[in-house]
Formats: sequence, structure tokens, C-alpha cells
Amino acid sequence: MKGLLGYEVYIPHYRIAKKEIGTFHKGYGGKGTKAVAHYDEDSLTMAVNAAMSLSNLLSKHVPSSLYFASTTAPYAEKLASVTMAKTLHLPTDTKTMDFGNSLRAASNAFMAGMNSVEAEKKPVLLSMADRRNAKPNNPVEAEMGAGAVSFLLGEGEEVIAELVASSTVASEEVSQWRNTDDEFVRQWEDRFIAHVSTKSVFQCAKQVLEKTKTTLEEIDYVIVSGASQKLSLSIAKALQVKQEKWAAMMDEDIGHIGTANGPFMVAKTLSNSQPNETILWLQVGDGCDGVLLKTTENIVHHQNERRQPVGKGNELISYSEYLRWYDLLTVDEGRRPSAPTPSAPALNRNVEQNLGLFGSKCTQCGQSYYPKQRVCVKCHQKDEMESFSLQGKKAKIATYTVDYLASSVSPPSIFAVIDMEGGSRMLAQVTDCGPTDISIGTEVAFSFRKLYDAGGIHNYYWKVVPKRGVQHES
Ligand SMILES: [Zn+2]
Repeated sequence: MKGLLGYEVYIPHYRIAKKEIGTFHKGYGGKGTKAVAHYDEDSLTMAVNAAMSLSNLLSKHVPSSLYFASTTAPYAEKLASVTMAKTLHLPTDTKTMDFGNSLRAASNAFMAGMNSVEAEKKPVLLSMADRRNAKPNNPVEAEMGAGAVSFLLGEGEEVIAELVASSTVASEEVSQWRNTDDEFVRQWEDRFIAHVSTKSVFQCAKQVLEKTKTTLEEIDYVIVSGASQKLSLSIAKALQVKQEKWAAMMDEDIGHIGTANGPFMVAKTLSNSQPNETILWLQVGDGCDGVLLKTTENIVHHQNERRQPVGKGNELISYSEYLRWYDLLTVDEGRRPSAPTPSAPALNRNVEQNLGLFGSKCTQCGQSYYPKQRVCVKCHQKDEMESFSLQGKKAKIATYTVDYLASSVSPPSIFAVIDMEGGSRMLAQVTDCGPTDISIGTEVAFSFRKLYDAGGIHNYYWKVVPKRGVQHES
């Protein structure tokens, strides 16, 4: 049996009310909110954070391949999957591949991953993420959200949802596209997109159902992920299936999260499904991919084992903050020197420490350090250190400072000294919170973020976020 071994979702902390967007443009924005990536989040950081939540499963089922799927990869030429592999401590012989250029990147990666599982009998990790920019006042602005989903594919008795069948329809059409130098997604008229997408979805659904000799009425859940939420719903209605079958497509919180949109709805469905239920995922994008999954008895265990999101309490932001974070409004950076271009040799030298979050641990007395040290301050031994990962370790704020003067897209900047389980202390930037959200003793968790861009290089590092809903010691 082959299929999904597990799934995890990463949705940014911040939301913007659709009404707030509508008010700015003197129109009706709509009901609910959409998820907004913080200024230090991109598709790669979100993909890493989604995959990181699967760490327990990944240590048991080490993937031989890692696929990253997004239409907003940080680089046009440089693999995001390689950076991801480093953050996840995967060996250098891991097959790293990036998928892009269409919302179908997710289902392309999924089907390629299943082929790899079949051929190599080894698990494949997929992380699908998007942080697309919508042109202000464009109809899709209110719904274009951000987020990531990770799937671990594999085979054996522990599969939680089996792959029953899949099929593809390629359709050459100009419905939704973006040129290499386009910042915003371009779309043809809604009626045209609806016409061509519906045709591809119907054909693809028919192909999958014929392979399995089933009918649409026999399928328990149907998911259509198209160019927009409105379009996806209209296609689902056209399929004439009962509304409760496509309940996961209803959303007033997150919005359409691009490449991760279809996988997010699959994840939502899996979280609410029982064993032996079927899910038909129809992913639109220059045609349509169809994937039919069937849950197993293991689904219940995975539902219970999943790390639940840390608290709810998502914060609403203003439209002006949104414009700044998404670089849609150019503001003066203040009279501070701009960030220096990171040196490639230095990045290379510190890759284990900066991306893998490896510090050092004294083999004589057990004291741990971050960044890495050669001499132990506790027992004074020299060069008796071993590599030590801080990932997943408990951490809390020892002290912190709030800086209103440092140049930041989202001021103030908060820097904290973190006490780590194992005895080490490290200096870290605190993100996704304001000064009143933390205090000494607040428990924090690591989150992969972008420090800054300079010289065309994205400089990634680990920051910390408060564990919301956790009791403080002080
Ligand atoms: Zn020591």
C-alpha cells in the first residue's frame, strides 16, 4: 500500500480583514479574513516550518527525496529544496527538486513523489507553499493568502491515506499567468477561465473515476482547487455533488494560498475524515490533475498525534501594514546603514550553524553552546566539542530588549536572550509579536525566517516566536 504517511500545515500568524481591504478602495472587500505572511516570511520559510512540524515522523521515515513546490520560489535560479534539506538535516544524497510555474506544481510534485515511492520504496517529503502578491484593488486581492502544507509520502502498513488512482489533463490556454518579470498574477476574464477549467476538471474526474470503476456519487469528499475560491466553488457546484462533500472548500479565514491551496483543503478534509473514506482532489492549472485517496484505519492515530496549532489568537493587521510587509509601499528606511551583502564563503562556512541550528556540546561536562565554541567556559576543555542541534529543544526568554530605532519593516524589533534546554544561551530575534505579548520566562519556539535581502541574496536564519497559550513563569 502506498500513499500519505502524514501531513502538516503552516499558516502565518497574521490576518487582514477583507473589509479592511474593501474600505481602503471604497468598495466591499467581503466577509472574513485572509492569512498574511509576515515581512520576514516567504514561500521557503513557510515550507520549512510546515515540514518541521512533521519532525517526529521524519525521524522514523527518513525521506530519500525532498520536493519543494511553489509559484513564488525565492530564486529564479537556485534550488529552495536544497536549502530546505539543510534545515531538516537531510543527507547530501537526498534527491532535491523544485516544482513551479503553475498551481498544478503541487499535484505535479505529488504524482512525481508517488512514482518515486513506487520505484525506490523510500519516503518522499513534499512541501508546497505560496506567498503571492495581488495587485491592490484587483478582485483577487482580498482572497490571495499565504501558507504551506507538507506531505510525507511512502508505503507500508502506516499509510494514513492510500493513493487509489490519479490522472492528468493538459490544456493549453491563457487563463492565469505571470511573466518572469511580473509581480502580480494576470488573469483572463472570469467567464473564460470558468469555461476552460470546468472542461478540464470534468474530463479529469471522468478519467480517474473510470480507472477505479466508481461514480462521483460514491466519492465521500471532493476538492476542486482552481484559479480563485469563487471559481473553485462554481466548478464544485457544476459537478453536482452535495455541498457536504466539498465542505473543506468553504473558507472565511485563510484565503486562497496558491500552490498550497489544494493540499490545504486535502489536509482539512483528512483532519475531519473517518477510516475508509475517499477524497478526490482536482487541481486546476493549465489543465487539471486528479488524485483519488482513500483513508485507512491509521488516519485516527495521525489526527490525534498531530501537533495542534499553538493557540488561536491570530492577529489582525491594518492595510498599511499589509502594504509595507508585501513591499507594495516604498517607505524611507531611515538614516541607518543598509544591510551588507552576505559573503558567500561566510554563508558556506556557517551553513550547519545558521540553517541546521547546530551549536556545540562539551563532551566532558555536557554544557552546550550556540554559536559553536572551541573552549568550554565551564570545564575549560579545548576542542572537546560535538555538534548539537537546538531544533525542538525547549526555550524561554531570559531577558529582552525592544528597539524602536533599528530600521525594520515591522517595528519595533525585539531581541531576546534565550535560555535553552541543555544549558546554552543564545541571542535571537523575536517575531510575530509585540512588546506586550512577551515577558521574562515566556516559552518560545524556533521559526525559520528571512533576516534580510541584500545583493540579491536572501539571508535566512532562525528566529523565535512566543508559544501562545503557554503559561509564563513570571
Ligand atoms: Zn565542558
